[in-house]
Amino acid sequence: MLREISAQRITETVKHLCIEANCFLPQDMKDRIQESFEAEPWPQAREILERIIENYQIADETARPICQDTGMACVFVTVGQEVHIDGDLTEAIHEGVRQGYTEGFLRKSVVRDPLDRVNTGDNTPAMIYYDIVPGDKVEITVAPKGFGSENMSQVKMLKPSDGLQGVKDFILKVVEDAGPNPCPPIVVGVGVGGTFDKAAFMAKKALMRSSDARHPEPFWAQLEAEMLEKINQLGIGPQGFGGKTTALCVNIEKCPTHIAGLPIAVNINCHVTRHKTEVL
Ligand code: SF4
Repeated sequence: MLREISAQRITETVKHLCIEANCFLPQDMKDRIQESFEAEPWPQAREILERIIENYQIADETARPICQDTGMACVFVTVGQEVHIDGDLTEAIHEGVRQGYTEGFLRKSVVRDPLDRVNTGDNTPAMIYYDIVPGDKVEITVAPKGFGSENMSQVKMLKPSDGLQGVKDFILKVVEDAGPNPCPPIVVGVGVGGTFDKAAFMAKKALMRSSDARHPEPFWAQLEAEMLEKINQLGIGPQGFGGKTTALCVNIEKCPTHIAGLPIAVNINCHVTRHKTEVL
């Protein structure tokens, strides 16, 4: 027996997730920023972190966007095999983004063609990623992605012989190359393994993980901690003005890969690492 979920309900859910994700920073990100503020010795860096805290508090109180770049809407949808949607699921998601960005007065940042650059006017299309799983639920996560940080992300096909050192060097290089451009303090999502495209997808998915949660395997959890420490020794600091708070966390996802390859992707997000999830 399939469980019915209406396309209208999908649209309504995506709409309010777009608005809420843009206005209310997740609690774990607030906690990381607050901790960084308390631990930051450099006065200028402390002042910037204080402004960042003040900014998300005003966004909370007034239900206004945390940043003027309200992002491209990345939508992660996990669909239970025992669910039937009474309509076009993909179109229902685009319609939710259309309504959310219009009714929420969120900046429309999407162009219809990468070269003719004409704005679509409603922030569609969304970037939608589906996963089919057992069960009768639908889980939707909306993650508005700003391009100040997206533009600083990189993918590289390392050689297997580059090994662990190659992985560490590449992560540090991407953060150093990015410098002040992605509005640090940043969140660093890393995907290791798979194929060229799978590594990039894992890096983006890694940004959805709570900054409270380390990788379940001790080796990778340790690597996350080590890379966070090394990144924070680079001295880039909040907004690039120096200090020890360059990153708030490093989240790594990994999966099997081919004997001849070692793909790696680093997807950078800014201190406005926004996402909001609802289960239907
Ligand atoms: S990188 Fe983040 S904080 Fe900077 S402009 Fe883009 S969304 Fe805003």
